[in-house]
Amino acid sequence: CGIVGYVGPKQAQGVVVEGLRRLEYRGYDSAGIALVHAGSIASDKRAGKLANLDKALADNPLPEATTGIGHTRWATHGAPNDRNAHPHLGQRRRVALVHNGIIENFALLRAELEDAGHDLLSETDTEVASHLLEVELAGGVNLTEGMQRVCRRLEGAFTLVAVDGEDPDRVVAARRNSPLVVGVGDGENFLASDVAAFIEHTREALELGQDQVVTITREGVEVTDFHGAPADATPYHVDWDL
Ligand code: GLU
Repeated sequence: CGIVGYVGPKQAQGVVVEGLRRLEYRGYDSAGIALVHAGSIASDKRAGKLANLDKALADNPLPEATTGIGHTRWATHGAPNDRNAHPHLGQRRRVALVHNGIIENFALLRAELEDAGHDLLSETDTEVASHLLEVELAGGVNLTEGMQRVCRRLEGAFTLVAVDGEDPDRVVAARRNSPLVVGVGDGENFLASDVAAFIEHTREALELGQDQVVTITREGVEVTDFHGAPADATPYHVDWDL
């Protein structure tokens, strides 16, 4: 299972899919991507190997975009089918989110959302997070603060990465008991579960600490804790060969 996020000048689809390919060794049963284009989310996701996603994207191309996220899934909650594959969207499809790990208290959160009229489309533990995040954004906070607020409600182990269709130049991620690294580029930045995903683009990395939220834009990387206080990640240089 793996996670990739990108913001920069390049076509995000290529960067994200190639990053997922470099994480294939971790094992997975489904794959998907989401891109931010013209104020909204464009997404596709498929059960099976990355080749299935490649074919779907060739048959029905997504629009060009320079901000995107991707996921390879190792199912824990819900069968490995197209519907349960990530990304998961919010109720109004403004937010797309991917997740590795397990959200232990998802059943309670799901009941709360359904009581409030949300339609959850999958059987995953993950989808509650995309819906909750979109509710926070609708309340007026940005994607970074929204992610902090959602993380404060989640129990379990998670790497989360999300994009907001209305905020095209930002990708936000969070981690608790699950891996997350930032690739620091020149005018572009990367997020991944493993440096292998972005090593062909940059060898400057930041390893996130526990319970941190990271925001990447083209020009910067900002790290906080789940309450918004500034936090430090650990910089390192990747010097192994491809
Ligand atoms: N628990 C989530 C699911 O079953 C994420 C699994 C993973 O780590 O890929 O969809």
